[in-house]
Amino acid sequence: MMKTSEVPCVPLTELPKPLDQLSPSELERKAAIGKVMTHTLQSLTSTYIDSGFQWLLPVALSQSTDPLWPDPGASIDKRIEVDIYGKIVRTTASMIIHKLVASSLAYPKLFIVSPNVRIEKAERAKTGKHIYEFTQLDFEARDATSKDVFTLVEKALVTLVTSLKKDLKPELEALRCEPLKVPKAPFKVVDKAKLEAKYGDEWEACLSKEIKEPTWVTNIPREFYDFEDFKTGKWDNYDLFLPQFGEVLSGAKREWEYKKILAKIERDQIKKENYALLLKLAKEGKVKPSAGAGIGIERLVGWATGVRHIAETQPFPRVPGTVNEL
Ligand code: ATP
Ligand code: ASP
Ligand code: MG
Repeated sequence: MMKTSEVPCVPLTELPKPLDQLSPSELERKAAIGKVMTHTLQSLTSTYIDSGFQWLLPVALSQSTDPLWPDPGASIDKRIEVDIYGKIVRTTASMIIHKLVASSLAYPKLFIVSPNVRIEKAERAKTGKHIYEFTQLDFEARDATSKDVFTLVEKALVTLVTSLKKDLKPELEALRCEPLKVPKAPFKVVDKAKLEAKYGDEWEACLSKEIKEPTWVTNIPREFYDFEDFKTGKWDNYDLFLPQFGEVLSGAKREWEYKKILAKIERDQIKKENYALLLKLAKEGKVKPSAGAGIGIERLVGWATGVRHIAETQPFPRVPGTVNEL
C-alpha cells in the first residue's frame, strides 16, 4: 500500500471531503482508515460481550434525551425536535436516559453502538475533534463502581491496540507518523480541580497536548445524572483523555435517588416534563445504582490512525457547518 504518512503530519488546513471528491490515493487512505474502524468495532464489542454485556440496538427519536446541560464542553447550535403522532420527539443526543432505565429494569450490563446528533456550532469545524453526527459505544452496568469502569475500559483499550498492531501493521504504518504504542494500565488519574489550578481554563487543551499516555480526569461538575456527593461537593465521574484529540470518553457513577435527581434537575433549570419517566421510576425506587460511560468511536479511531480531523474516519463526513449530499 502507498505510504501516506505525510498527509496527517501537516497542519489542518483542508477539511475532510466527501468520497466523490477524493483522489485515488486519498480513497486508498480512506479504505485503510475503514479497516481500522472495522477492527475497532469488532474488538470493542467482543470485549464487552465477553465481559457479560448485552448489545442493545439504538433509537433515533425520543421524548427524553441527554440535556447536554450544564456541560462546560457543550456548544450546540440547534436542537432537532419534531412532532410525530402529536408528540414532540428529539433526535438522540446520547442514550444516557435510556441506559439508566434499561440497566435498572431489564439489562444489568448493556452497551449500545449509538448514533448521536449534536449540531455543533460551525466554528468548531477546525477543532479536528467535533462532528455533528457521531457514534458512541455507550455502556452501563448495574451496581458497578467508577473503579470497575476504569478496569474494563483499560482492558478494552489495551486489547484493541495490541490486536490492531498485530493485525493491521501495514495500514497503521501507512497512516501514522509514529508507531502506535500499547497503553500501560492502570492509567493515571487526575482531579479536574488540580488541572485547573495548574493550567487555568485551558486545562483540556493543555492536558491533551502534554500527555503521552491515556489519562483519567475525575470530579467534573456537569449534567444531573452524574453522581455528586452533596456533603463534599465532589463528583464521582470521569473523562478519559488521549494524546491529540483529548477527551474520548465521558462517564460516571450515577444518581439513582429521586430527591437528588429532582433537586439537580431543578437546580439546572431543565424541563422536568422531559424526564418524567426517569423521575417516576426513581420515585418508585426502581432506578438502580449503576456506572457507565460512552466512548466516542470516531475520536478513538482518529487517535489510532493519527488523522488530523476525526471526520476522516467517517465514510460520509459530518464537519460542523458543512452539509454534503450524502
Ligand atoms: P467535548 O467537550 O469534547 O465537546 P463533550 O464533553 O461535550 O465533548 P460528551 O457529552 O461527554 O461530550 O459525549 C461523550 C463522548 O462522545 C465524548 O467523550 C466524545 O468522545 C464523544 N463526542 C462528544 N461530542 C462529540 C462531537 N461533536 N464529535 C465527535 N465526538 C463527540
Ligand atoms: N455517554 C455519556 C455517559 O454515559 C453521556 C454523554 O454522552 O454525555 O455519561
Ligand atoms: Mg464529556
